[in-house]
Amino acid sequence: MKKWIPRKITLTVLLFFTFIGVLFAWGEWGHQHINRAAVFALPEEMRVFFYNHIDFITDEAVVPDLRKYSINDKAEFARHFIDVENFGNNPVDSLPRTMKDALVKYPDSFLQRNGILPWYIQDMMTKLTTAFKNRRTTEIIFLAADLGHYLGDANMPLHTAVNHDGQFTDQKGIHAFWESQIPELFGNNYNFNTGPALYINDIQKETFRIIADSHGNIDTLLSIEKNLKASYDKSKMYVLDSAGNITRNKFNQPVHTYEYAKAYHDALHGMVERQLRKAITATANFWYTAWVNAGKPNLNDLDSREMTDRNEKNLNKEYKLWEKGKLFGFKTDKEF
Ligand SMILES: [Zn+2]
Repeated sequence: MKKWIPRKITLTVLLFFTFIGVLFAWGEWGHQHINRAAVFALPEEMRVFFYNHIDFITDEAVVPDLRKYSINDKAEFARHFIDVENFGNNPVDSLPRTMKDALVKYPDSFLQRNGILPWYIQDMMTKLTTAFKNRRTTEIIFLAADLGHYLGDANMPLHTAVNHDGQFTDQKGIHAFWESQIPELFGNNYNFNTGPALYINDIQKETFRIIADSHGNIDTLLSIEKNLKASYDKSKMYVLDSAGNITRNKFNQPVHTYEYAKAYHDALHGMVERQLRKAITATANFWYTAWVNAGKPNLNDLDSREMTDRNEKNLNKEYKLWEKGKLFGFKTDKEF
């Protein structure tokens, strides 16, 4: 009995942190880089305003995840993923197109368990468009930054699959490995210049195209790691402590060695960078489309002249850097 209680507690704590780790899409590094890079892809009429608020937009990129684990907002959890396999045989095609249709076909409890990501993106897009129409600065930057987060999640393949942490294929920990440790290790060499934002004719269609595209990477993402692992010296896969146990980060995720991370990253042939770039593109395109659909409101007089003048020099510098594929150095809280 004495032994049983601590074990139960340990297990509960462990499960809790495993859960948290799994729900952390892209990690702080990824989400912040996605939102920040998207600002430079905007046309000048938007870029100047967005740049005035770029630090907020960068930081806010992770707030949707904070709502889950820092304040345990129950409504937040389902917004970050969709387990498409649970919706039918031809998963993405069989998904209801709107939240209203989804609620007709499935009970709310089913949707809370299996995720509502594509419909929540549509909802945020509508709200952002209204904010642009009303020319409300705080609403625009808050909703735009949040939308960037969910578009980031949508482009993270494991957020579209039942096997979201490799738990069914003996690959537990792959979620945080792929989206956090790998970008932290190799992301600084990625190219953040995704070209100018483009108008999206059909938001609904584009949202499901993104989900389908992202989901299409699942088999490759998992099988490459499975094959690599099969031929890899197990003692060299993880960072071990002096007692020979696998080191875990603050979210209880296993820490892989640099060599193993590099081998996996190389074997993925640019998948992580490709998905990150798709997330930047989607974010910029959705922001731009919301602004166009709102009637291209003038954003330049929303901030004071002094503020815009003060930021002009830095904007030019950062924009030139982005044109070369780089972002101005900023620090994120390291997760690995
Ligand atoms: Zn998320």
